[in-house]
Order: sequence, then C-alpha cells, then structure tokens
Amino acid sequence: MANDIRESFGRMVFSDEVMKERLPAEVYSAMKKTIGEGRRLDISVATEVAYAMKEWAIELGATHFTHWFQPLSGVTAEKHDAFLSPSRDGTPVTEFSGKELVRGEPDASSFPSGGLRATFEARGYTAWDPTSYAFVKDRVLCVPTAFCSYGGEALDKKTPLLRSMEAVGKEALRVLRALGDNGTKKVNVTVGAEQEFFLIKREDFDKRRDLIYTGRTLFGAPAPKDQQLDDHYFGAFKPAVSAFMDDLNEELWALGIYAKTEHNEVAPAQHELAPVFCQANIACDQNQLTMEIMKKVASRHGLVCLLHEKPFEGVNGSGKHNNWSLATDGGRNLLDPGDTPQANARFLVFLSAVVCAVDEYQDLLRASVASAGNDRRLGKSEAPPAIVSVFLGDELTELLRAAADGREYTPHAADLLGTGVHVLPKIPKDNTDRNRTSPFAFTGNKFEFRMVGSSDSIAGPNIALNAAVADELRSIADELEGTDGSVAAVYGVIGKRLKEHFRIIFNGDGYGKKWVEEARERGLLNLPTTADAVVRMLDSKNVGMFTRTGVYSEAEIESRCEIMLENYAKRLAIEADAMVDMINHDILPSAVKYSKVLSDGAAAKKSISPRLSICMEEKLLDRLADLTDELYECSNILSASTAELARADNAVEAAEFCRDRLLSDMDRARAAADEIEKIVGREFWCYPTYGDLMHNVR
Ligand code: ADP
Ligand code: MG
Repeated sequence: MANDIRESFGRMVFSDEVMKERLPAEVYSAMKKTIGEGRRLDISVATEVAYAMKEWAIELGATHFTHWFQPLSGVTAEKHDAFLSPSRDGTPVTEFSGKELVRGEPDASSFPSGGLRATFEARGYTAWDPTSYAFVKDRVLCVPTAFCSYGGEALDKKTPLLRSMEAVGKEALRVLRALGDNGTKKVNVTVGAEQEFFLIKREDFDKRRDLIYTGRTLFGAPAPKDQQLDDHYFGAFKPAVSAFMDDLNEELWALGIYAKTEHNEVAPAQHELAPVFCQANIACDQNQLTMEIMKKVASRHGLVCLLHEKPFEGVNGSGKHNNWSLATDGGRNLLDPGDTPQANARFLVFLSAVVCAVDEYQDLLRASVASAGNDRRLGKSEAPPAIVSVFLGDELTELLRAAADGREYTPHAADLLGTGVHVLPKIPKDNTDRNRTSPFAFTGNKFEFRMVGSSDSIAGPNIALNAAVADELRSIADELEGTDGSVAAVYGVIGKRLKEHFRIIFNGDGYGKKWVEEARERGLLNLPTTADAVVRMLDSKNVGMFTRTGVYSEAEIESRCEIMLENYAKRLAIEADAMVDMINHDILPSAVKYSKVLSDGAAAKKSISPRLSICMEEKLLDRLADLTDELYECSNILSASTAELARADNAVEAAEFCRDRLLSDMDRARAAADEIEKIVGREFWCYPTYGDLMHNVR
C-alpha cells in the first residue's frame, strides 16, 4: 500500500470519483441521478457501467465477480463467478454484462426464508443497489445487491432497510414542507455503528470447543483479576493489538470505510472501533464488512476476534451502538438544535417524533435486537436493561415537559434571541454515567441506540426505528399540513403526543432494581428474552405500522419472526449439546484424573501415618465426588432436554421451552463445572481458563 493514507483510501471502491473518471459523461450523470434521487436505471447505462467496473476491477487484480447480499441468516452471502470465459475459438475473454450487474439468480433454496418459500416461489434473485458502491475484496468484485423472491417479497435485510429509509425520508420531507422548507429535496438516514469486540489468542481458542461451536465460553470460573480496577478502558494498546489495528484500519480504509476511533473497552481483551457515520444502508454494508475483515485480519495475527455479545460471564459483553439521525440533502442534521426559532421548531418536531415512536414501538425495538447472544447482555449491569427508555438529559426533558403540559418553556435570559423569541438552551453533550445506562440516549445531535448486539446486522434495528419514526412523522405531517407551520402550531401538534408518551423518558440509572419497579409502574415493557420479545412483532399495532409504511408485508414480518425464534432455539440447542460434549469428554475426565492423584496422595499419607483421620486430599476428593455426580446428572438432564426440544411442534413452542427449561438446565450445569474448575490442579485442567483467555494477548 502507498505510504500516504490519503492515496490508499478507497482504493478498492468503485466510487463516485472512479465513475466520474471512467464513465462517459452521460452515463455518469444517469448514475448520479439514480444514486441521488432514486431514479430507475436503464439497461444501456448498466451495460456501460458493467464494462467500466470490470476493467477497473481487473486492473486491481480481481478475477471474479459476485452479487454481495445479506440473507436472513445474518451473514453476508457471495457466490463467485470468474470473469474469464472461452471465446468461440477457445481463447479466453473476460465478460461481465449489464444484465449480470443488474440481476443475479443465486440458488435461494438453502437460505432461511421463514416460511416465505412455502407461500411464494422458491427461487430468488439479487438486484443491484447502485446507492452502495461496488468494491474489490479478496480479488472478487463485489456488487452490493438486494435479495428478493420473484413475487417481490424481500428475502434479505437490505430491501426492507431501503424501504424504511425511503418511508422515513418521505414523511420527513412532508414535515419539512409543512414547516415552510421548500428547498430540501431528500432526507436521508445517517448511521454510525460503534463496534465492540474481543481479541484472544488462536491457540487458546482452538482448545475450547465452546468457543469453536458457539463463539462464547459455556464454562469458566472467574479470573482473579478481570475488570475490577477499570484499568483496561482507554488504556494503551498492547503491541499485538496495535499491530492488528494497523492492519485492520489499512484494509478498511482501502474499502472506503472511514474507521475513525479505536480504543480499549472495559473488559480485558475488549476493544472498540467506530467509523464516521454515513447513509444507513451504506453504514450497514460497511459494518458487515468490518466484522468480516476483523475476523480475517485477526486470523492473520494468530488471534481470533470474538463478536459474540457475551463471550465471558462476569465481565462486560459487547454491543454495537447504533448512532442515528436524519439529514437533508443539503447536509443539515435534523436532530441538531439550531439557534433560530425556526430551527428550534424543526428540532422539536423531529425530537418529539422519535421520542413518541420509541414509546409506541418499544416492543419492536426490543425485538429488533433479540437473539440468544444478546439476551445474555441485556439486563446485566454493563449493558442497557431489556426495558426500552429514552435519555434526554434534564434540560431537554424540561422543555418537552412544558410542551406536553401546554406551558411555555422559560429558559434563562441568555437563551432569548435579540427579538425576544425563545430559543432552546444550548444542549450540552451528556456523557454522564446515567446516560451510559440508557438503551436509547440523545447525545447532543443524534440518538444512540445501545441495545444492538455486537454480532448482529444493524439492518434490523434500523428498519424498526426508521419505520416507527416514519409512521409518527406521517401522522404529525397530516396535522401540520393543516396549520401555518408556525412555532405555536408545532407546539400544538406535538404537545398532546408528548403527553401520551412522556413515560418513555427516563434520565436515571437504568441498571438499578428500582428502575425495573418504576418502569413497571409506568407501564413500560420488560422483555427479558427473545421468546418474550419476538412474538410481539405480530401484534396488530406493529403489523399495521409496518404495512402502512410499506416496509414489510404481513408475510414478511411473519417470516422474520419465525427465523428469529428458530435461530434462538437452534443456538441454545447447540450450546446445550456443546455443554454435554465438554462435560463428558473434557471436564469429567479432568476431574477423574485429578481425583486419582488425590486418592494416591491420601493413600501415601496414610501409609506413613496410619492414624491420620481425614487429610486434605480426602476433603477435596469428597467435594469433587459430590460435584462430579451433580455434573454427570446435569449432563443427562441437558441431553434429555435437547431431545425434548427437538420434538417441539413449532418455533414459538421451541423458544418457550428454551426460555422456561433449557436455560436453567444450562445454568445448573455451568455452576457445577465452574466449582470443579476451582478445585482441579492447573496441569490437570482441560482447557485455557478465563485468566489465560483474557490476559494472553500481549
Ligand atoms: P461515543 O463513544 O462517545 O458515543 P464515538 O465517537 O465513539 O462516540 O462514536 C460516535 C459515533 O456516532 C460515530 O460513529 C459517529 O460518526 C456517529 N455520529 C456522529 N454524528 C452522527 C449523526 N449525525 N448521525 C449518525 N451518526 C453520527
Ligand atoms: Mg464510542
């Protein structure tokens, strides 16, 4: 790579600059219209673009192309086709047609469709998303695409994301028009996803089947030192981590991803990387790529990157903070409190719309981040609880309370404009601890949705959020359009809505038990598991909203719901099976070996002093005997439970069985195994301990 980072940035991206340079002027301008205004693309334009793209990619060493898409399995999918084909005389030529650029037909039958396939045609096709740039990765030209059935049902995460962006953009524009803004042409969703992850040594990873099969440790006694001293957060990188980060940044920058902020997180071996925000669908593509490249680069460094939400019990888990806002094509952030009354009115409308939408659709937001992995994080003291609430900070809360009560807000004299018209106080960026406990915090000019799991695609949560806000803005626009769009009219429209939804605003400590009580009194939902949350997607309120906004059809919601529940039960079944495997083949044999040493030791002692009553070895043996009996029983119970789970009639029943039975069976087995680990001598223990895993990367 070039030494100057400015030269290598975006080197692997078929960016606007590259298109300008390589496409005929009229083709370039047609592309720009498609990207900027969502215009449909003509096949003759596609043919020219495909040719330029192919030549460009081959110059960068590409040999294949692929439609790069995001099926409902949660990972990105790609099927490579070589550019090379034989010509009539047998000599090789390179081919990539406009048709191949625009549409692909992967065999869809092995991707999860959540029942959509039963209802509709099995085959699916991929369609180019020209708003997300193509790129070259591992010698493959990747064309970002949406994945749909022939009936038009979305089989992926990108299509509904694009629909939701369109919905919220359209309604936001109506609101702006009603407020007298005739200049703005388009409103975009902006997203910046901070990514947390762990790095451990490959050789340690390879010795633990739980990590191999499930991405998290299913057993493990706490290390004497983990995060008690808070000495890892923002500490200097260890050399191995630093080398990894250098390599990672270089690859991400080449792919046009503005990897910006990197730091150590709270738990030992935990880190964070945040990019510069961009349009939501691109942020989603880039986050998927970031996760993939993190894993790949780690493996080059003899490390493994753990993206699981809770790799280690007892220390912080990993999330993905989804920073979200709306911006006009002119670059104006609609959640930025401006300093004119007009700007204030606009800010108030959009702020209120988000607050009301989050309250109305708390269940959907919770469901949008639900997974077996993330359930372990939500509700623990390092993460937001499973109760959705909004943090606004004291000043904004007072302002909205006044609006809700129909009172005029009386700010300090300094906050009056020369004209004597009230403007908002300057909103300080609130970085207090209380704000850190909030699942949905306003942080000065954007909202930060903190419930998203570290391994999850950000598509789901952004779909839910965009759609919910779109619906709220739609009904606000309906009312505002009948007014003069003045500040007073704005207060009139948002006041009664805020009154109804004020309960969602909570600026206190989200970790405390007190909050659980208070939230219940406020009527807020507490949905601790995926089994509780996901079924709510099918409530008529939610189906109504999704169909009204055109984001999901009813069948599409049902399919997502089905897949999420299925995935939850399957993951937990794998975890339970992995536990049985480790108990029988690793943990019990270790304990047996150590017991033999203890009993030999006891016998030796007794042979020297036969009158010795009970020695240390015998006490340990006794304790080990109890614990191994218990663990053996746990293993049998787990086996019986997974067999019963396999007989569940449907996804809801399976998920509920996991919630009500399997999880507690797993907890019981773990408790016994971790006690055994505390007793067995180090050299007899079967795999690297928490101390090894968290402290071996240096
Ligand atoms: P912190 O950890 O204090 O929340 P970071 O700097 O780690 O802050 O991350 C903030 C994230 O928010 C970055 O990805 C940033 O690009 C993003 N962000 C900033 N402004 C906006 C905005 N208007 N819309 C969406 N994301 C934003
Ligand atoms: Mg951060």
